[in-house]
Amino acid sequence: MTELRTLKVALLGCGNVGAQVARILIDDAENLAPRTGAHLQLTGIAVRNLDTKRDVELPRELFTTDAETLVKDADLVIELMGGIEPARTLILAAIRNGASVVTGNKALLAQDGPTLYEAADKAGVQLSYEAAVAGAIPILRPIRDSLSGDRITRVLGIVNGTTNFILDQMDTTGAQFADALAEAQRLGYAEADPTADVGGLDAAAKAAILASLSFHTRFDLENVHCEGITGVSAADIAAAKDAGFVIKLLAIAEKLTAADGSDGVSVRVHPTLLPREHPLAAVHGAFNAVFVEAENAGELMFYGQGAGGTPTASAVVGDLVSAARRIVLGGPAQVETTNGQVPALPIDAVNTSYYIGLDVADQPGVLAKIAQLFAEHGVSIEIMRQTIHRDADSNVESAELRIVTHRATEAALAATVEAVKGLDVINSVTSVLRVEGV
Ligand code: NAP
Repeated sequence: MTELRTLKVALLGCGNVGAQVARILIDDAENLAPRTGAHLQLTGIAVRNLDTKRDVELPRELFTTDAETLVKDADLVIELMGGIEPARTLILAAIRNGASVVTGNKALLAQDGPTLYEAADKAGVQLSYEAAVAGAIPILRPIRDSLSGDRITRVLGIVNGTTNFILDQMDTTGAQFADALAEAQRLGYAEADPTADVGGLDAAAKAAILASLSFHTRFDLENVHCEGITGVSAADIAAAKDAGFVIKLLAIAEKLTAADGSDGVSVRVHPTLLPREHPLAAVHGAFNAVFVEAENAGELMFYGQGAGGTPTASAVVGDLVSAARRIVLGGPAQVETTNGQVPALPIDAVNTSYYIGLDVADQPGVLAKIAQLFAEHGVSIEIMRQTIHRDADSNVESAELRIVTHRATEAALAATVEAVKGLDVINSVTSVLRVEGV
């Protein structure tokens, strides 16, 4: 039997994910070697504070605060520090030194991915980041490798566990947003400052990565239309439920033809109504799932834990083994293909169905007036349902109208809603939400 060579692995960060990666590399070294074709030797772990107690018992001599020196002597570098700097500088230094890099840093990739991809391409080294989208779920490699012989047309993802937990909690218990967020924070699913999650920015970073790989074009955060879930009320959830829908925060990347006939890709994150029978509607709690539609494969769904130290470490080590195998076998690194060159379409170009909730006067002829106004704006109605409420004290009746439209452009819908607001029979527009999967 031939003697296996040894590849030096530097780990930057020993937090939730890094500590579990170190554990796997040490405890599972014997199994990893034959799969890799090399021994993966963890040569050091860079941290900020040497005295911090770690989640895992690890040899003290591995720890250092000198990340720069650690990176210089590595064949493979795993970046799990998070944040933009010094992560970017260290990754670029590693690449310049000829090391392959594995990272889970979606914030950095969304902000400055092209700089890293180009540097890796130029140096002929591998840059892998499976953990950056949907934690443990293998989704980037399936899109990049398994589906490389197909044409992806649409990707719908629940890629943020915090917001899925909150919306699921609101759906199952009827809780208001603030109460569901407090519960998520109590259980450790949401951070003390939940802005990046509930505002949709975390999902937007992942949407940019998914869209780039799916459509072979570089998209960054600026190309992503982003709306969070802070405006979703318990009443929205209840109305959606009543109409057979569930509300999910979706990261969407889809090929579209705009009204002017030009082709492009819409990349967006927003609360979305899904029919309860859609596979993504069954994704509960903090779980993630990505639903992919491809011309030949049809519909595919990838489901699992989107975060957590141990699940995410599985994706990181998978990337590491794959990158190490490439070093052992030789040959060129796999680079991001950017030959798609499809433009990002603005949200106005998106053609989708909408759910509109209206509080209206209970008078004869109201439905006809509203239906006529929709028709005048070229927005056709698929479902219109009316519920009558009677105020017990005043005995005054009002009606709640729930409308689901056929596909219409964002611009046509916005004009319709503005016009509806001007009708004397309308008390208020209670919600306007996009619908997918009908
Ligand atoms: P974390 O728990 O905050 O750990 C960060 C680690 O990096 C700590 O060990 C910290 O050292 C070290 N570090 C930070 N700045 C440093 C610096 N300037 N120099 C040296 N060391 C530094 O983070 P995490 O949750 O493991 O996440 C790591 C990365 O994985 C992030 O990019 C995150 O977005 C991504 N990710 C995380 C998850 C998840 O479930 N947590 C899921 C998917 C992707 P000290 O311990 O000494 O402070």
